Amino acid sequence: MTGPTPRPGILDIKPYVGGESAVTGVAHPVKLSSNEGALGPSPKALTAYAAAGAEMHRYPDGQHTALRRAIAARFKLDAGRIVCGAGSDELLGLLCRAYAGPGDEVLYSQHGFLMYPIAARSCGATPVAAPEVDLTASVDNLLAAVTGRTTVVFLANPNNPTGTYLPRAEVERLRAGLPAHVLLVLDAAYAEFVGPADYSAGLELVDRPGGNTVVTRTFSKIYALGGLRLGWGYFPQDVADVLNRVRNPFNVASPALAAGLAAFDDTEWLDRCRRHNDTGLDWLQKRLTGLGLTVTPSVCNFVLARFGDAKAADAFLRSKGYIVRAMGGYGLPDWLRITVGRDEENQGVADALAEFLAR
Ligand SMILES: *Cc1c(COP(=O)(O)O)cnc(C)c1O
Repeated sequence: MTGPTPRPGILDIKPYVGGESAVTGVAHPVKLSSNEGALGPSPKALTAYAAAGAEMHRYPDGQHTALRRAIAARFKLDAGRIVCGAGSDELLGLLCRAYAGPGDEVLYSQHGFLMYPIAARSCGATPVAAPEVDLTASVDNLLAAVTGRTTVVFLANPNNPTGTYLPRAEVERLRAGLPAHVLLVLDAAYAEFVGPADYSAGLELVDRPGGNTVVTRTFSKIYALGGLRLGWGYFPQDVADVLNRVRNPFNVASPALAAGLAAFDDTEWLDRCRRHNDTGLDWLQKRLTGLGLTVTPSVCNFVLARFGDAKAADAFLRSKGYIVRAMGGYGLPDWLRITVGRDEENQGVADALAEFLAR
């Protein structure tokens, strides 16, 4: 090749494909493919978004001061160590860029979020997947896969697309078993949905001596602001300083900051979304199990169900106007991931599945 050539690794990337939103021949399909908030954003976020739009000729606050302050107050964190991003995806990518490069290994769990290998390859590092046990991350297998070249470990807790989680004690065991130079990234995109008391997003681990643990969070899931691109993370001071060096100065748009703050402050809406998901998740899990399907014990806003012929099930659902997520890209070709929707959407997709299975 004689023309401009990308760095090694870039052309090995399989581009991320988001959940589809259209079906030919169906005017208004029901989209249950991207784990978006079933009830939509807080009405207060919509108002704040519109108000911020009137000021769009102004640059945003590049320090994200008001949002960081609100997050710090709620979770009792040091606002100076919170960094906001254009979605948590941006933060995951920046962490890779800053802490991994050619020759380094980026470790993640076998059926972990697809952005981890993509972020690893984009910075020239080698992604390494540790086997899971029962579609759940295995601390033993992750620790066994650590080598002298490992610099970053990504753990989605709970994980997308499996919906499973590691209890607090297991995350602590993982952290304790990592060499001091390895950065542990706890991706807690679904933390707000999790019920069991032995779960923790891990914010308290960030303050521990050693300074090797970070936590990322998002406004895309329970806050239902996926279209605005807003996430945040909590970091040891050194890591926050690094991110503030490598991020773009105005990485988050002002309407996103304004809507995010309004959504964050609307705890009534948050509680309502959590209650809706508790009910919807439980209902879907039971209904699908009742149909004879195997589902993982998801604690998120989606279910992962196993089919004899997932392709046929996917095609049938589509023909009925329901878009769910095929899992071939995650190495789970027999499974479909279905986001918890509104009550009538859950009912509809379950009825369609019952019809499919009865054929
Ligand atoms: C959806 C998701 C994210 C983040 O998405 P952003 O919209 O970039 O904040 C991160 N991790 C996991 C596991 C997710 O499912």
